[in-house]
Amino acid sequence: MTDAPVEAPSGLPKLPVLPLGGLSEFGLNTMAVSWGDTLVVVDAGSMFPEPELLGVDLIIPDYACLQHRQPRHTAVVLTHGHEDHIGAVPHVMRQFAGPVFGTPLTLALLEAKLAEQRVSVDDRLHVVHPRDRMVVGDFTLEFLRVTHSMPDCVAVAIHTPVGTVVHSGDFKIDQTPIDGEHFDFHRFAELGAEGVLALFSDSTNIERPGVTGSEVDVIEAFEEIFASTRGKIITASFATSMYRLQVLVTLAEKFGRRVAFVGRGMVEVSQIAQRLGYLKVPAHLTVRESEVKNLPPEQVLCLVTGSQGEPMSALSRIAIDEHKHVGLMPDDTVVFSSREIPGNERAIDRVINHIARRGAEIVNEHIKHVHVSGHGSSEELKTMLSLVRPRCFVPIHGTFRQRSRHARTAERLTRNLPSPVQVILADNGENIEFDRDGGRVTARVHAGRVLIDGASASGLGDEVLRDRRHLAEDGLVVPVVAINKQTGAVEGVPDMITRGLAIEQGAESPLRDASRLIAELLASASIEERTDYGIIRDRISVELRRFFRKRLGQRPLVLPVIMEI
Ligand SMILES: [Zn+2]
Ligand SMILES: [Zn+2]
Repeated sequence: MTDAPVEAPSGLPKLPVLPLGGLSEFGLNTMAVSWGDTLVVVDAGSMFPEPELLGVDLIIPDYACLQHRQPRHTAVVLTHGHEDHIGAVPHVMRQFAGPVFGTPLTLALLEAKLAEQRVSVDDRLHVVHPRDRMVVGDFTLEFLRVTHSMPDCVAVAIHTPVGTVVHSGDFKIDQTPIDGEHFDFHRFAELGAEGVLALFSDSTNIERPGVTGSEVDVIEAFEEIFASTRGKIITASFATSMYRLQVLVTLAEKFGRRVAFVGRGMVEVSQIAQRLGYLKVPAHLTVRESEVKNLPPEQVLCLVTGSQGEPMSALSRIAIDEHKHVGLMPDDTVVFSSREIPGNERAIDRVINHIARRGAEIVNEHIKHVHVSGHGSSEELKTMLSLVRPRCFVPIHGTFRQRSRHARTAERLTRNLPSPVQVILADNGENIEFDRDGGRVTARVHAGRVLIDGASASGLGDEVLRDRRHLAEDGLVVPVVAINKQTGAVEGVPDMITRGLAIEQGAESPLRDASRLIAELLASASIEERTDYGIIRDRISVELRRFFRKRLGQRPLVLPVIMEI
């Protein structure tokens, strides 16, 4: 991207739009729209690392390609409060000045994140509501209500000197929204009538025929579960799935169960939702997680996180019987009220097997209709295209396969119209330049990723660079542990292989202490934990990172190796 609007051959300046993430992975949704002295970033998402990336807590897009510019007017615009849309905002706020626009719930979730990471907010967070308009430099931003799996979601229309660009955010068309806040058909249609230069639209569920369905659709299946379960009911979902939580709280009241929010994330987010009125929980209904064991099981509903099999989540702890307050009994039912995010299947499967060992009933979306997606299926995506009638269409948010299918759908939909849509199938880092007639990919920039570990507030370059630097500065520790697959017994003494670590050898070697520490950790772990390599690797890694930080002030890359015997 250049500092001045690009001159087209005709002499008309062009509008550059640069997607930096979210076009081929789940997460990292980020798109930069610029014009002269104005730069607007739509969403700034993060993603959680694959298990192979040990020592990394979070991945964010690399914003370096935007940084050589110092535009006078900058703003970050957020469509909604999911991590894959706001997770990188603290980093963006450190790198760019300017306001952050979002709805009340989005900003409340963001504020909690900023406080945790000690990013000063000053007066930079600006609450917006659907149909509000805000001027940023040469752009006017407009917000349109959409429905999704959480409240307070918007699409963004950016009115630019070249034309209007619409970004759908994540959406489905829920005709019976739990909070009564409807998808804004009227304004999308009006924009379409006024003329839209480009539509960027969510492709996640393009492969599903028909419509996705409403958040109220799960009520029936949950009523059956509430009516038939004799023990506790434990439901795992994202803490931000507030419609789901509301359905469950309402049913708990109807069926005489108290509600416990279990796990830090669930407690924090549900408190924000209650404070802002997005989640209504009668005071007499709630109970602390520490009180769960004192209540008759048939009077308890636990709302937990961990639906993706995250090793340190409340559900994983409950599943291996290591949770302080909540245990599982054969009469209990555990409901996975969420979808499996691709890549998490094995971790989820491990948790399900642990739960099965406890004898509890397990229900997921394959067994009963306990989950509805938040993303529109093909008919809803066609509706969006028909309402907005854009000149150009860029499918976003999905794998290449999903985006190319979305592209074909758009082409088929408009084939017989006087002016068929122009489809642009771009990738992360491909700069699209628009003029009044259309757009095309003109350049590729390096759209890297930055890996963040909990300790470093700012990223350290892109993936390879980051690993190399980490190794060069902090060295590498590979604890090797041999575990008997059948008995769960630890064989021999954990071995510590190190490279590039500055330590003196001798009887007092910290390595010996590290080895002893791991031996103790393994001895205190249950057999189930020891034979679950996901959990045990995570625990060893956390423990050793803490040890080296405290003892030596070093942050080596820790890569536990578990040998099965
Ligand atoms: Zn979302
Ligand atoms: Zn999303």
